[in-house]
Amino acid sequence: MVFGFFKKKEAEPEDDDDIEPVSFLGPTNGQEVNLKAHAKLVEAGLVRAKDLVTDALAQRADGLKIEPKGQLNTVTIYIDGIPQSGGRLSKAEGLAVTQVMKLVAGLDPKQRTAPQSGGIKAEFESKKYVLMVSSTPVPDGERLMIRINDQAIKLENATELGMGEEMRLKLKSLTNSPGVVLVTGPPGSGVTTTMYGVLRNVDAYIHNVFTMIDSGGRTLFHVSTYDDPVQGEDLEGSLTRLARREANCVLVEPIRSAEVAKPVFAKADSLMIISEMTAKDTASAVQALVQQVGDPALVAEHLRAIVQPKLLRRLCQACRLAYRPKPDFLKKLGLPETLKTLYRVPPIPEDAKDHEPCPKCSDVGYLGRVAMFEMLEVTPAIKEIIAAGADPAALRAQMKKEKATTLQADGLRLVAEGVTALEELQRVFKPA
Ligand SMILES: [Zn+2]
Repeated sequence: MVFGFFKKKEAEPEDDDDIEPVSFLGPTNGQEVNLKAHAKLVEAGLVRAKDLVTDALAQRADGLKIEPKGQLNTVTIYIDGIPQSGGRLSKAEGLAVTQVMKLVAGLDPKQRTAPQSGGIKAEFESKKYVLMVSSTPVPDGERLMIRINDQAIKLENATELGMGEEMRLKLKSLTNSPGVVLVTGPPGSGVTTTMYGVLRNVDAYIHNVFTMIDSGGRTLFHVSTYDDPVQGEDLEGSLTRLARREANCVLVEPIRSAEVAKPVFAKADSLMIISEMTAKDTASAVQALVQQVGDPALVAEHLRAIVQPKLLRRLCQACRLAYRPKPDFLKKLGLPETLKTLYRVPPIPEDAKDHEPCPKCSDVGYLGRVAMFEMLEVTPAIKEIIAAGADPAALRAQMKKEKATTLQADGLRLVAEGVTALEELQRVFKPA
């Protein structure tokens, strides 16, 4: 069953049969899932769950959300981050699908009052995927979010993410010695992917690199997993042991509280520590950090940089349309006036009868995603502002003065390189 998304032609009512449904190959945490012990639940929800995921994968979606709305459940499919309706499910179906997906992800289907997250290894049309599943209690039940990582589409290192060479090299040099490098942004803005990009950018040939968190199915070369914590050992204890084992660089859990922030900064004199934290922007992240650590001078001393990604859609390289921008238009944008060519989505011809849709993007005009980045580097002047309490307005003013790379400026770089269109840049900066 396809949930009303494909524009079906009358002549091919049975086209579902051509699609082999997705295979679930087990949770990413390596646990065995006992489907037999949950036979009733499996019978009620597994086929429907597979249909929904298969439908999403067939449309190369990167996300799928199921949430209760009154007596129904709505399904939302995200394609390159853009939400689209994926139909509705009855309350019973929605519940069964949600519980079965939790089960297959190695989570506890009975636990419905606390948030849970896990992952499923999956295969569809001979391609491997990782489905990151999270459930969140909401007033009408539970919201299920499935993020789809296509293991074949590489958005793994900094360059693939779209990071400019100058910033990439700067980060490489900043991660060469002890200190703290963080990636920040609102949820869903590419923070975790960027954090792994920063980790992969560390020179692993000269440094001993460790991770203390589940990599969510990512392959990490030259990175050891710290998997032998002593019973009851806290984060500071683990970091001390890692430093003794001659670790240089450690990826730690997201900084959400003082319990993580304090030990990270306490050990940052002997380790390069990489982590992520949720914040509106880089300056707000520094302020939150100072509050959590409770010692502005310590943050000022050890923080090296905070990077913020923002995702936008990549123009389809097969059908993007070149145009010549007017020099005064470029000047207004702050782009070099010597730039000869920009690219945009081609218009669909009005007489569409003989029009063949683009074989790559089906005339969406965009294919895949890319990120632009802001970077707050802790320069001597920034250090002073942090030590004085990290006022976000003062940090922003100083970044401007030092011509730090901002999201807008970095986005324009991607426009100038023809990676994305000006229209897309305007769309992502439009207030929601
Ligand atoms: Zn195209």
